[in-house]
Amino acid sequence: MSASDQLKSDIDELVPDMVALRRDLHEHPELAFEEVRTSGIVAQRLRSLGLQVQAGVAKTGVVGLLHGGASQAGAKTIAIRADMDALPIHELNEIDYRSTVDGKMHACGHDGHTSIALAVAAILSKRQAELTGNVKFIFQPAEEGRGGAKLMAKEGVMEGVDGVIGLHLMSNYALGRVGVRAGAVFASADGFVLSVKGKGGHAAMPHSAVDPIVISAYMITALQTLISRESSPFSPAVITITTIQGGIAFNIIPETVELQGTVRAFSQEDRETLLRRVSEIANGIASAMGGSCDVQTLHGPLACVNDASMTQLVHEAAVASVGERNVESSEEVMTTSSDDMAYFLKAVPGCYFIVGAHNEQKGANYPHHHPRFNIDEDAMPTAVEVLARAAMGFLK
Ligand SMILES: [Zn+2]
Ligand SMILES: [Zn+2]
Repeated sequence: MSASDQLKSDIDELVPDMVALRRDLHEHPELAFEEVRTSGIVAQRLRSLGLQVQAGVAKTGVVGLLHGGASQAGAKTIAIRADMDALPIHELNEIDYRSTVDGKMHACGHDGHTSIALAVAAILSKRQAELTGNVKFIFQPAEEGRGGAKLMAKEGVMEGVDGVIGLHLMSNYALGRVGVRAGAVFASADGFVLSVKGKGGHAAMPHSAVDPIVISAYMITALQTLISRESSPFSPAVITITTIQGGIAFNIIPETVELQGTVRAFSQEDRETLLRRVSEIANGIASAMGGSCDVQTLHGPLACVNDASMTQLVHEAAVASVGERNVESSEEVMTTSSDDMAYFLKAVPGCYFIVGAHNEQKGANYPHHHPRFNIDEDAMPTAVEVLARAAMGFLK
């Protein structure tokens, strides 16, 4: 049997356990920094594979180090990253491994990621003797908006790491396909709060008040011109206003209105420019109309930017796994959602890629973060194969 066939058959053997574990994690979702049960399972499995395990990293994160048996002085280390957290969503799927916790659900596929990375650990530990470098498995907590990766990076998990790879299963991307692309692939995600201050008064006497609702209306339309008139049509970006709160009655002009929104961009330059311009436009409009505006920026993850040579490595691994025609590197691979994998990619060269898990027949056709989100588990062995091949390729 060739090495390639051997790898595929080793993965096939692991599939029942990998799927069972993913379903177990799905039944027991844990939110950001509460992944106690999940990380316990991860640590125990990594230990039983003979890895050197460090638990309690960034509160509930786990790191497992596999020392290559054929490593020589100066051997490289590649990191493989998986996220473990669930979301505060009440699951509406009617499946026999439905979430057992009301109001919590694995609605982004991180249960799959965790199980996939553990399968890769099993595959590579079986090949430990021949590995010419080390593999560091990073199981991070709190990807969903709570900065688990940032905290792990701060606690030093990327020290001694030469490259990092990871993947996201995608319910909106066809099963069997792998998307790998150099450059920015996931957008940055910052929030902002605009507290618009006017002067309250009687609704019938607007001339003696400063109406923050009218000011807000101008702001909302003007902010959209940052995308349509100021951003280059060749560099995508998004501004969305997501909340607007103000007023209590039909006959009162309120004193204040609060707006919230988000900015998504694919370069640090666009990100900084847009956030600065949001503030300038909000302040300018408010003051032109006799009011004022306090702008608060809520910094979220930066864009995920893939390194060219790490991308090449993953591309080759993907082609070897699913064939050239199933590997894509067009703009289809990009998404305006964010992922805090960005912090690992900022620390060392890396590649974050996507694996298609969409299958309407199996009900795996709802968007991420939807109460009926699910993945086609047939995507999991593909993900394992690409990660394992890329890691071995890196260490060669
Ligand atoms: Zn998510
Ligand atoms: Zn996710």
